[in-house]
Amino acid sequence: MVVGILGGGQLARMMTLAGYPLGMKFIVLEPVEDACATPAAMQLQGNYDDEALLAELAEIADVVTYEFENVPARSVEFLNGNVEVYPPAQALAVAQDRLNEKTLFREINIPTPKFAPVKSLAELQQVMEYIGYPAVLKTRREGYDGKGQVVLRSADKLESAWQIMNNKPAIVEEFVNFDREVSVIAVRDRNGHTRCYPMTENTHDNGILRTSITCSHEPVESQAHDYIVRLLDRMEYVGVMTLELFQDGAQLLANECAPRVHNSGHWTQDGATTCQFENHLRAISGLPLGFTNAVGYAGMVNLIGDAPSSDQILVHPYCHLHLYGKEPRLGRKVGHINIQCDDLAVFEAEFRAMQALANNTTAELP
Ligand code: AMP
Repeated sequence: MVVGILGGGQLARMMTLAGYPLGMKFIVLEPVEDACATPAAMQLQGNYDDEALLAELAEIADVVTYEFENVPARSVEFLNGNVEVYPPAQALAVAQDRLNEKTLFREINIPTPKFAPVKSLAELQQVMEYIGYPAVLKTRREGYDGKGQVVLRSADKLESAWQIMNNKPAIVEEFVNFDREVSVIAVRDRNGHTRCYPMTENTHDNGILRTSITCSHEPVESQAHDYIVRLLDRMEYVGVMTLELFQDGAQLLANECAPRVHNSGHWTQDGATTCQFENHLRAISGLPLGFTNAVGYAGMVNLIGDAPSSDQILVHPYCHLHLYGKEPRLGRKVGHINIQCDDLAVFEAEFRAMQALANNTTAELP
């Protein structure tokens, strides 16, 4: 089985690492030379919309998937005629446009923050009477990690906020004073069977994920599972999907979904019976799914900018290091540490130690 992947970054790299034991081989289409995934995959070097390369990918691969949601929809359409592509194109159309996404959530009764589409400054001024302050203005397309969005605190700042949108179609949402941000990851196979991973609590800094920690068996978890299964079934989805939510008291509000393996699921590599990468590959290649339960307490700390020396981490016996082979750069995800342990007190101490190490490294950067 040869799996084709659009994108050759760290998510593709971790897919290849999970797929080799299953006898799979990989080919990635990726513009950057020597991308993260290339030590374990053949590479077609070029743009995602290069039809000659897409045709070659379709020829070599038995099934194609992608590692990020901003792949051009036309590339997926092109591939679809020649090779099976999962997750389905509908999932991309939803995840690439915040308005489509929130509209779908509403249609299937998944609560969201109040929102409204905006195409002009006049429209923005008008809908703010309904949304209220504070609010968040976001471009409908191509925003990620907090990019392409601005918080609105008063009417006199609307004009400057609208300029940031560059006249692109946008969406404005009420600002949610959430208690915490959580996400849930689930997988659906080709026969419609689904399995959900434990919910995780996530912390961000400057819009970039810093930590994830499992919080299974909490009362809202079954609600999160119910929401994501609704989404998967509605899209006749195949593969791993992630749903990011804000928790406000006992209520969960959907923020966005990602039609792919996700950073908040990296803990599954060392903390779940079957990791998200393996389950994604099983789903798209028609294999049975593995259990998604957590083994003990599990969490993840991202390494942003640079990584501490490996021995500083590995001297902690419950910690597992995953490096992506990237050069250090401010704000860049270069790796992560997974922490897994059966004893809660030990787990918490190890988690805090890893957070401190990761924070120190980030702070030391120029
Ligand atoms: P997003 O690109 O939509 O994932 O947003 C990036 C981050 O901005 C989220 O992880 C939240 O921390 C914050 N954020 C986004 N939308 C809202 C909102 N409506 N209310 C409060 N915070 C938000």
